[in-house]
Amino acid sequence: MSGLYFHIPFCRKACTYCDFHFSTNQEYQGRVLSAMRRELLERRKELGAGTVSTIYFGGGTPSHVSWADIGKFIGLLPELGFNVEADAEVTLEANPDDITEENLVRWKEIGITRISLGTQSFRDDRLRFMGRAHDADQALRSISLIAKAGFASWTIDLIYGLPQMTLAEWDEQLTIALDHGMPHLSAYCLTVEPRTALAHQVIKGVVHMPADDDQSAQFDCLMERMEAAGFDHYEISNFGKPGHWSRHNTSYWEGVPYLGIGPSAHSFNGSTRRWNMANNARYTEAVHNVANKMRESETIDTSERYWEEELLTAAQRTNEALLTGLRTSAGVAIARLELNALARNSSSVERYVSSGQLLLRDGRLVLTKAGRHFADRIASDLFVTDDDR
Ligand code: SF4
Repeated sequence: MSGLYFHIPFCRKACTYCDFHFSTNQEYQGRVLSAMRRELLERRKELGAGTVSTIYFGGGTPSHVSWADIGKFIGLLPELGFNVEADAEVTLEANPDDITEENLVRWKEIGITRISLGTQSFRDDRLRFMGRAHDADQALRSISLIAKAGFASWTIDLIYGLPQMTLAEWDEQLTIALDHGMPHLSAYCLTVEPRTALAHQVIKGVVHMPADDDQSAQFDCLMERMEAAGFDHYEISNFGKPGHWSRHNTSYWEGVPYLGIGPSAHSFNGSTRRWNMANNARYTEAVHNVANKMRESETIDTSERYWEEELLTAAQRTNEALLTGLRTSAGVAIARLELNALARNSSSVERYVSSGQLLLRDGRLVLTKAGRHFADRIASDLFVTDDDR
């Protein structure tokens, strides 16, 4: 069992807070997508003989390229020998400004089973602040269209922790979302990533981020509202009705191997992590150069590669298991923690257990509701190094 990820690195507009790899220059679309098909061809054996149970088109904005281009990737998979399961989850990230009845029909026809909608807010002032390409009407209209389109599942993204956002405003955003009956929600707290337009605004003092306590109260409100509405809080930022959890993202958190295609895409084969360069023009050129050289059985210098890779050490494997596992409602299996991580950090574990933030349950370490506010900090306090042998 494994997953496939396609990074479609194009967007209509740059959102102020975004640090993903994307370009608003559409001139290279054809060339980048063609290089991605070549990468897929060259790497088709890497997942071995196992089945592909999830496929995810992320970005960037996959809905910003034509449905036919997305369909080409899906159509290529059986031709290249990928054994895609009949009930595979096939997700497409889409923005409200790309949602039309025709696109929804086409996406279903080419095999998309799940739409992930970048809604972010139902307020025009907030959408303008974030630099989004859509407005509140488009957000609402697109949700109604997706709900009627008959996909196996769908989800929306919302952002909280915005400057001057009150608890009442966030509560109202959740009410609007829940009134539209989505079966899954991803809700993210706004963070200021380095070298983004938002970071620049904060440094210049044009934007003031809210206090941690405000963001924390909004997270509590989120947990309460979603729980009351019958959603499972199965990962810090993710809430799903039973049967609607994201299978693709769950497999990342469980350490399932996946193949990532496209500029900036990451791959993991169970022991090695590999990541592609985050530059459309250089990626495109390097993919073809490497593929041509491999055809001629020529040696490829490390500097010619379009990727970097590292073999994970025992400490890195342990720390990744902590970082991802503790974010999930299932927690992390203690058996996955190498280098005796628990014994090494027994005082931290005891401290978090006695403060009611961490539980030891059925051979797993699980965060409590209180602990979910500090998931990354608790995980990093339990980290090990390779010297801990
Ligand atoms: S649409 Fe998504 S990927 Fe593109 S800039 Fe906005 S947040 Fe980033």
